Amino acid sequence: MAHCTTKTWVPKVIALFVKQGTATTKEVAAVAGFSSHLTAMARCRQFGLKVVPVRRLSGRKILYQLSEIPSPESFKWNKKPSNHEISKHLLKRRKINVNTGCWEWQGYRNRAGYGCVRVNRCVQLVHRVSFEVHVRPLREGFFVLHHCDNPCCFNPDHLFEGTNQDNMDDAIAKGRHYSLCAKAKTHCPRGHEYTKENTCINRKAQRSCKECRRAATREWMRKKRIGNGIPV
Ligand SMILES: [Zn+2]
Ligand SMILES: [Zn+2]
Repeated sequence: MAHCTTKTWVPKVIALFVKQGTATTKEVAAVAGFSSHLTAMARCRQFGLKVVPVRRLSGRKILYQLSEIPSPESFKWNKKPSNHEISKHLLKRRKINVNTGCWEWQGYRNRAGYGCVRVNRCVQLVHRVSFEVHVRPLREGFFVLHHCDNPCCFNPDHLFEGTNQDNMDDAIAKGRHYSLCAKAKTHCPRGHEYTKENTCINRKAQRSCKECRRAATREWMRKKRIGNGIPV
């Protein structure tokens, strides 16, 4: 996955320890490029570096050293899973919809309904990962779109590659793009035309039909009169 950053700071930190033997938190953070040095050692341990405190310097400074100098190949983050392994991981959480043939993701879905999966320490969209491992790597500036319009589907046969423009056209064609679809409408839901005289802009900055608003006000007044015991 091209957009996933590898942890290039890890070899730099190892080189620092090899050169100096010991290092302080501040030195490690400076070499690694961390914005704060407070969690530097925790992050080193998270990425498999065995840092241990050796000596307390003046104040609260502590000198650390590496109990073991690892070879760069021995890291988990360096071993990228193969396409076959990723594919197997995805298929474990697949439910095939017998009517549509969609492969519906059974794991976590985001608010838009797209499946999310953790690959290479990065949370990624399942349909993108599926396209990349089953079809081909995604080209720069391209998106993975659905033929089936089912966001949680990751069946490679239902996916295709497109530009942002294709994505917009597709959304409008399927009635998903809110503002552009709204512009294409010439009549309100009850069939009154959006003419200049009959249109106003409501509080949500959407077009609103004056005819329908008048009807709504009349209805509200009528209910109020009934509530107050006034004969209609
Ligand atoms: Zn599908
Ligand atoms: Zn109307």
